[in-house]
Amino acid sequence: MKIFNTLTMRKEEFVPIEPGKIRMYVCGPTVYNFIHIGNARPMIVFDTFRRYMEHKGYDVNYVSNFTDVDDKIIKEAIEEKCTANEIAEKYIAECKKDMAGMNIEPATTNPRATHEIDGMIDMISKLIEEGHAYVKNGTVYFSTRSFPGYGKLSGKNLDDLRSGFREIKVTGEEEKNDPLDFVLWKPKKEGEPFWESPWSEGRPGWHIECSVMAKRYLGDTIDIHAGGEDLVFPHHENEIAQSECANHAPFAHYWMHNAFLNINGVKMSKSLGNFFTVRDISKEYDLEVLRFFMLSAHYRTTLNFSRELMEAAKTSLDRIHRAASRLEDIAEHADKREMSDEERKVLDGAKAFIAKFDEKMDDDCNTADAEAVVFDLVRYANTNVADNAPAALAQGVLDVLTELCGILGIHALKKEKSLDADIEALIEKRQAARKARDFATADKIRDDLLKQGIELMDTREGVKWKRV
Ligand code: AMP
Ligand code: ZN
Repeated sequence: MKIFNTLTMRKEEFVPIEPGKIRMYVCGPTVYNFIHIGNARPMIVFDTFRRYMEHKGYDVNYVSNFTDVDDKIIKEAIEEKCTANEIAEKYIAECKKDMAGMNIEPATTNPRATHEIDGMIDMISKLIEEGHAYVKNGTVYFSTRSFPGYGKLSGKNLDDLRSGFREIKVTGEEEKNDPLDFVLWKPKKEGEPFWESPWSEGRPGWHIECSVMAKRYLGDTIDIHAGGEDLVFPHHENEIAQSECANHAPFAHYWMHNAFLNINGVKMSKSLGNFFTVRDISKEYDLEVLRFFMLSAHYRTTLNFSRELMEAAKTSLDRIHRAASRLEDIAEHADKREMSDEERKVLDGAKAFIAKFDEKMDDDCNTADAEAVVFDLVRYANTNVADNAPAALAQGVLDVLTELCGILGIHALKKEKSLDADIEALIEKRQAARKARDFATADKIRDDLLKQGIELMDTREGVKWKRV
């Protein structure tokens, strides 16, 4: 398996620290709102990488955090008139629902920054003791000049950066010894959540969170660290500096970064306001379509989101589903006769697609070409498995198709849309009607559901339903 390593800017053969095991950390979202489909790109891409490594027999310890304390969360809490913790809880739950819809396997561990404050205080204390950090008025800064390797991931010219920073002085940061120094701990402002520490009542900086969570759940040196390419500098550069100074060991052997998801040629982001949430998309498409679309490009190439490409992904998925359900039909209804030699060869031919698929994925996780192999297999199945083929052949080919789709996180056989989801959708429609004071529609939905044996109950916690 070859991986493009941002640290060396080359494709390198993947060699794990411990044979058969992978320790992997992926920077997760800041939970202050529903995730947008740009955030979904690293989730889908690295989940696919993980599934592929599991298919190759690796045991993957996959850790992905939630950043649950941050300026944006605090701002949202003020707007929604609740606590920052309530905002984080709410959007972590919503994010997990979206991830389930996109078939993202739950991480081995999903640590939350606010549950790891003690570890952060320990690491910051160690950095101060060893001369890599200093305190000014309750704020702790990392001293970038104390780490000779600073800049090795991003390859930036630090002197240029330093002089640039000096020109645009950020207010409140004049006390730093060097413009590239960054915050490890900052004192609270009035009304903000805070924790006790030896330096001030305050909260950790964003970068230290990931260094601490990676160390706690994966160890001092990990195999792979991943995230979106916007994180290379300063986030990942700073994580390396903190971790390597505190642990006296290399932090991550391989760094993987996905390119952006754009819209009309511009990065999709919350601050620009040009985004769709995963939830918006789920109202129009099965989220497997979004997943399939995302994997239709190599993860290191920029991908432009458009309705045409989503429609194309939907058509492609339909083709896979049709081929799979035809094979299933044959397997269920065909006679159980033995395969002829000829038919055995057809099955071997189908199995050969696994090696072709692996070859594409082994080349830096080329999901675009891997999807093309799945189509070749669909075409092969449609032409070579006859309607009167024996069950063993149809089932054997279907198994190969299911396996390859499974690595991409796609169900070859269309998911049965659950009845529960339909009911929930109708309840939402009824709530909307009530809000619009359209009581006739609201009552009709309730009566129709009752006819299907579903009774709605309006409670303080919202609408509940039961079968009667
Ligand atoms: P954030 O919540 O902004 O910290 O982002 C969480 C993850 O989503 C990070 O790995 C980001 O790099 C990634 N990300 C955010 N926006 C995009 C985008 N438009 N395209 C691809 N990845 C993105
Ligand atoms: Zn991170």
